[in-house]
Amino acid sequence: MELTIEDTIKWMQLTNDKIQKNKEHLTALDQVIGDSDHGINMARGFQEVMKKLDAATYETVSDVMKDVAMTLMSKVGGAAGPLYGTAFLKLSMSLKDSQKVDESSFAKALEEAVQGIIMRGKANAGEKTMLDVWIPVQDYFSANNVKADELETIAKTAMEQTKELKATKGRASYFKDKSIGHIDPGSASSYYLFTSLAEVIE
Ligand code: ADP
Ligand code: MG
Ligand code: MG
Repeated sequence: MELTIEDTIKWMQLTNDKIQKNKEHLTALDQVIGDSDHGINMARGFQEVMKKLDAATYETVSDVMKDVAMTLMSKVGGAAGPLYGTAFLKLSMSLKDSQKVDESSFAKALEEAVQGIIMRGKANAGEKTMLDVWIPVQDYFSANNVKADELETIAKTAMEQTKELKATKGRASYFKDKSIGHIDPGSASSYYLFTSLAEVIE
């Protein structure tokens, strides 16, 4: 794969489309094990991201991701905004010197993004957070020749598997054992992000 500036903008567009379309669904997931705002938070954030990207011109993929990061950090309240913001900031920093974003530079950048989410949120795998989608996706990029259909399957399966987990970080952790049996909202929005990436690299 190679990710161009146009691909990156398209990636954000497709993500925004899915988040707007599934805003109620994300909010419904957050209603069960949170405070019912994940759809609202993400929809506002990605709407602002698209406003920003539409109004600017870019020289590098890294610069696009930097604007995504800054927008998400400043426009999205709650836990998810700063965490997604950190992830995109790490992607941007890691890809700063890449003229061409190929599979190995992107895999490395994803690794740094995951580390950024872990540092910021102090969670790790298996705690029923967005990391439970980001980590399997990152592992897949590190170990494979990435194929769009496999990427989609991995992200989807990972999201669905958060159902079985008990939340031990974030608001969902207040629900203790009652958090089991429900998909984590941030994992669902992360699925939209990575299935959009799969569409772009197809
Ligand atoms: P809030 O919980 O502040 O209302 P959101 O509803 O927008 O924020 O986002 C909730 C999502 O954020 C969760 O579903 C989970 O995926 C993610 N999340 C929460 N806390 C953490 C954390 N410490 N590390 C990683 N992800 C987290
Ligand atoms: Mg919430
Ligand atoms: Mg909230």
